[in-house]
Amino acid sequence: MTIILGIESTAHTFGIGIVKDGKILANVRDMYTTEQGGIIPSESAKHHERLFEELYKKAIETSKIKEEDIDAIAFSQGPGLAPCLLVGLRKAKELSLRLNKPVVGVNHCVAHLEVGKITGAKDPVMLYTSGANTQIIAYASGKYRVFGETLDIGVGNFIDNFARYSGIGFPGGPAIEKLAKEGKDYIELPYKVKGMDITLSGILTNLKQKVESGKYSKEDLAYSLQETVFAMLVETAERALAHTGKKELLLGGGVACNSRLQEMCKIMCEEREEKVKFFCPERSLLVDNGAMIAFLGEIMFNANSNIFTKENIKDLDINASERTDDIEVNWK
Ligand code: AMP
Ligand code: MG
Repeated sequence: MTIILGIESTAHTFGIGIVKDGKILANVRDMYTTEQGGIIPSESAKHHERLFEELYKKAIETSKIKEEDIDAIAFSQGPGLAPCLLVGLRKAKELSLRLNKPVVGVNHCVAHLEVGKITGAKDPVMLYTSGANTQIIAYASGKYRVFGETLDIGVGNFIDNFARYSGIGFPGGPAIEKLAKEGKDYIELPYKVKGMDITLSGILTNLKQKVESGKYSKEDLAYSLQETVFAMLVETAERALAHTGKKELLLGGGVACNSRLQEMCKIMCEEREEKVKFFCPERSLLVDNGAMIAFLGEIMFNANSNIFTKENIKDLDINASERTDDIEVNWK
């Protein structure tokens, strides 16, 4: 029996999850939001610091475990915003000292993929679309490899930035999805796929110019944004499926909450000659959360991977620009 507590603090969300033998016992979270403007990293970090005690108590209560039963503390080591990651690191170290238990450093992107397997996916291509990250990841030759990604901004940040420009607060994704449902006319936008990668900043500039022109409705712009950018994501995900020969597509990240993106992915999976199975976790596991950190933390703890004990904890640090393919995978 293993019980792992996981701490997520890479960006806007502070979350604590508890997992016992692959089963999620608690997954509590709170998100830093703003009425105007985007994330201010130092403010988001203060939010995380402020919420720790309350969420920690709530997670322990919900899971019905005793804190002495925790075998290790997992935390998001990277990638993410340094001030936010540092809160997670500090809390993990404090708990480690107090409970006399080791710390496991977990890669945030790989955690999204591993927890997605709760849906039944075994060896998927993951389309991971969140605020800061947009990657197509799959396991190949001993590592999680990035088969395609954004060359500039993440798709969530792209949507949020456009929403902000149109007078909507953060996060903009859900509001844009609602507006898009009211859109009627498709407005041509640049379509920017470069091999396996995509770029979004040119489309953002183009959209802003269209807002400025006053010629288009917000609804049509939101609709056209979704149709164009989601098609780019689906195209690159499909190419990764063809390239790897894998038969499962898994979604991860907050933007995957979007029902139109889910629908477009499903259609692609069904239309492929050799059918691809489509998997999408529930919302609480799509968005940033502590349960996924505990989930991968347990797998890594049992594989003795990236563990820090009293002897070496002074070497433990965050890795704000950690890459998915930097991770040594010794648990498969
Ligand atoms: P994450 O970083 O994975 O927690 O995801 C946060 C991002 O997901 C933000 O940029 C949100 O705007 C975006 N998001 C959340 N819900 C939706 C939605 N329904 N449609 C599009 N984007 C969304
Ligand atoms: Mg994420």
